Amino acid sequence: MPKRKLWPVTFRPKRGEVLYSWIARIGAVYGVSPRDLLPGAVNIYYPSALVQSGDRSVLSALAQSTGVPVKALVKRTLAGSSWRWPQEWWVGGAAPSPQLCPTCLTADLQSGDRVQFLRLQWQCAAMTICPKHGVPLFEACPHCRRINWPICEATGLGRFRFLCGECGSPQEQGAWPEHPTSEAALRLLLAFEAQLLRALQGRSIQWSWIGATPTEFLLLVTDLLWAITRPTDSSTPIICNLQTRSFPLGHRSLPFREPTQWGVASANVRRCVLAAVLAAFGNSRVRSLLQTCPERSGWDKLLSCLSTDNIADLQRRSWRWPPAAHNSLRRAAQPYLAHRRGRALSHDIGKIRF
Ligand SMILES: [Zn+2]
Ligand SMILES: [Zn+2]
Repeated sequence: MPKRKLWPVTFRPKRGEVLYSWIARIGAVYGVSPRDLLPGAVNIYYPSALVQSGDRSVLSALAQSTGVPVKALVKRTLAGSSWRWPQEWWVGGAAPSPQLCPTCLTADLQSGDRVQFLRLQWQCAAMTICPKHGVPLFEACPHCRRINWPICEATGLGRFRFLCGECGSPQEQGAWPEHPTSEAALRLLLAFEAQLLRALQGRSIQWSWIGATPTEFLLLVTDLLWAITRPTDSSTPIICNLQTRSFPLGHRSLPFREPTQWGVASANVRRCVLAAVLAAFGNSRVRSLLQTCPERSGWDKLLSCLSTDNIADLQRRSWRWPPAAHNSLRRAAQPYLAHRRGRALSHDIGKIRF
């Protein structure tokens, strides 16, 4: 491969900046799209190369053009990030879609250098609320509702701002609708997401009441995600009965069938699903904050929506969970499974009689 020349103007990425954002900012200096700065072969869906893949040939070409080592560039992508999130927890699934904090983008414009940039951490599907501002994350763009990676505009010497590539709207606060959920509910869900992010990185869980190792916690969450995405005989999906009033679904069904595909869902749908998972194993205070019938146990409510086969399957899976959650589920499942055993027994007796 011929050695590429250094571009005349280049600068280092910001701390926590996703590769796409940095290349878009360099492109803005020259008035071109990030795609125009990539080697010719990357044309199909170029944000994949700049958000997820860490494609070696792309990174080498960018390193030669910018003077920033490949090692530093790979850390700006999901594949090379030190967080090591599993692929099924990447926003957008196979085709990364942008998720933004409007308040971070506003703060960028008011900061000393006035440089707006997109963060890599916003690309984890387990994060739907900004840990810095406690506000919901959104998909770009709020105006035309087309989900597109924003384009970058240079607003002055060394100053940058991101705009919708379709309608030209800014992406920071003021452009976004108010979120109707209470602050206490947002803080609770944010705390849950923080534990989930810790578990995804193999770090210890700070919620001592759950008594879980990171692996146990992650299995509890993923098994509950599995349970609430089960197909049912009725036309109403399970999530419609389990959604909380604090984080309603806002749709008639989920846009994914298996929990491994859940990164394709919007931030709003993921908030709804995570809140339903938390309501299943949380105590009455948690359920009260999420505004879902606090007088009934979350386990009972979940199990009443599942087929007995799925309950039996969930119980088998629960051996890998934190012991307290496993025991609570087993206790709650007893009447449902006893009913099934009773039916099986009467069926057998019926067969003997015939
Ligand atoms: Zn923020
Ligand atoms: Zn737009």
